[in-house]
Amino acid sequence: MGRELKGDRAGLPGTVRGFCGEMDKQGDWSPVPVLLAEAPPGGPAEHSFFMEILETMRDGLRKAAPLDGVYISEHGAGLSTEEDDVDGAVFAMVREVVGPDIPIIATLDLHGHVTQRMRQSVDVMVAYLTNPHVDQEERGCEAALLMTAMLSGVRTTSTLVKVPMISPAVSLLTARGPYADLINHGQTLVKPPILNVSILAGFAPANASTNGLSIVVTADTNKPDARVTARNTAQQLADKAWAERHRYEPKLTSLDDAIKLSKAVVEDPQKPAIILADVADNPGGGGRGNTLFVMQRMIEEGISNVTIGMIIDPALAAEAHSQGIGARFWARFNRDDDTKFSETYEADVQVEKLANGDCVGRRGIFEGRRLDLGPCAVLSLGGLHVVIATARQQLADPVFLERLGMNIADLRVLVVKSRGHFRAGFDEHHSPEQIFEVDVPGLTTPVLSKLDLDRVPRPIFPLDPDMEWRVPD
Ligand SMILES: [Zn+2]
Repeated sequence: MGRELKGDRAGLPGTVRGFCGEMDKQGDWSPVPVLLAEAPPGGPAEHSFFMEILETMRDGLRKAAPLDGVYISEHGAGLSTEEDDVDGAVFAMVREVVGPDIPIIATLDLHGHVTQRMRQSVDVMVAYLTNPHVDQEERGCEAALLMTAMLSGVRTTSTLVKVPMISPAVSLLTARGPYADLINHGQTLVKPPILNVSILAGFAPANASTNGLSIVVTADTNKPDARVTARNTAQQLADKAWAERHRYEPKLTSLDDAIKLSKAVVEDPQKPAIILADVADNPGGGGRGNTLFVMQRMIEEGISNVTIGMIIDPALAAEAHSQGIGARFWARFNRDDDTKFSETYEADVQVEKLANGDCVGRRGIFEGRRLDLGPCAVLSLGGLHVVIATARQQLADPVFLERLGMNIADLRVLVVKSRGHFRAGFDEHHSPEQIFEVDVPGLTTPVLSKLDLDRVPRPIFPLDPDMEWRVPD
């Protein structure tokens, strides 16, 4: 990884690319990589595996000494089977190894959960400002600039306010809406002594004691009133978030209405094309990417000219590849993963197109990022074109379809297994008015009452809709 940090960075996360790129501009520096580990969202990690990762990092840091600074890129909503605050455990370990005087700066996804242990362990936390997350490189750059400032003597103080509210990810877009207003307001407050305002709405399906909205404000202690300004700023933002909590309720489209819309669009070429987002089965949020509720209903209704992607089914993708283009065969969807929401389904299909999964993102959150989707196929099923992939990944980049010979501008009805990141990839031909979030069952449903959240702190909005709350002094 050392060579990648200084050379071709396409295989690295956007935050790390941004951090390294900006550090290059700032002058001579030597990156010492410790560990890169990534996995698509899912359930909590086995605790023993997490401890192994933690010890590998500790070992790497010790061997890397002496260091001038530490940069950490994490998501922020990590869980193990025994630890709700794995990010706090990592941050605290880093501080313990490098001591109190070395700057530590972390970037976080805005779906992370911040704890006091995280805040106390690092000097600055920089969260994404955009959802879809198209500012990952920019936040990495910001972290590098803060690192440079700290290496020149800047020191920081920070405040964390936890606001007891959980919002489904579909209500957390930043082009418009309550979260956009909150984040934008926060950015107007970034002026001396304030160095950074980060507002992390959290990851709604996380059944953890850390769940909730986190507001983190960091100030420069060399400037007057740093501590009190940081605290007042965080409190003001917490008040605004709480006052507007009712604006975060999701508005979903029923499957019946989605079917009506699809029929209307397919029958009338004058109508604008639409995207139906299967938000309850988003691989980017922990879904398996293989529920078939929308597909089966489309088949029952006899709708044609609809594209569905991507259904994650390694066995079916492999079979399509062994059958070859043009072959007809009796497909068994979910033969290896017959679970709640993802039942086995059989149908007569024809192989339309095949491809390997090696690609570089073209637009949106994966732009410039090298990815491998594993063997992919397009199956024709009735009038549907169903895209099958092997690696669990959300359909967030148009290149995933273009490399299978599809032209996005020609697609009349597109069903995507993605919660919201597809919006930044498909915005060339689909405005927000052409996008409908469909209410079907699934692991990542935005309907919070359907999730198992017995470990989140109570009371919390909207699970306790009538609760009262004030910002603590
Ligand atoms: Zn996120």
